[in-house]
Amino acid sequence: MELSELSKERLEGVDERLKAVVIECAARCPFPFNVSEGLRTEEQQREYVRLGKSKTMKSKHLTGKAVDLYPLSMDRKVVDWSRFEELADLMQQVASEQDTEIVWGGNWKTLVDKCHFELK
Ligand SMILES: [Zn+2]
Repeated sequence: MELSELSKERLEGVDERLKAVVIECAARCPFPFNVSEGLRTEEQQREYVRLGKSKTMKSKHLTGKAVDLYPLSMDRKVVDWSRFEELADLMQQVASEQDTEIVWGGNWKTLVDKCHFELK
C-alpha cells in the first residue's frame, strides 16, 4: 500500500539501500504502515537519551541507516500492534532479495524495539 506523503518525507536523508527496501515493502504490504522516523539529528538523539527513549549516542538513526515503522489499521487511524512480526518478515524478505542486510530491533535481547529496522 502506498506510503503517505509524510512517511515519504521522513525517508529523506535515509540511506538509499534502506529506502529502497522500505518502498518495495510498502508496495507489497497488504496493510498500511507509516515511517515515524528516519534520519535523526544529534540534538534529537540527546533528547531521547535524556528521556530514556534511547540508550546510546551511537544510534544508526544519526547516519540515516535506520528507520522506525509502525503497521497501521486499514483506515490508517491507529497502530496495529499485532502486525509487527508480519511487517518484519516482509522487510527481511525484500531486503534479502535486494542483497541488503538489515537487522530488526524486535530480535534484540536487551531493548526490544519492534518498530526499528537498520542496515547491518
Ligand atoms: Zn529506531
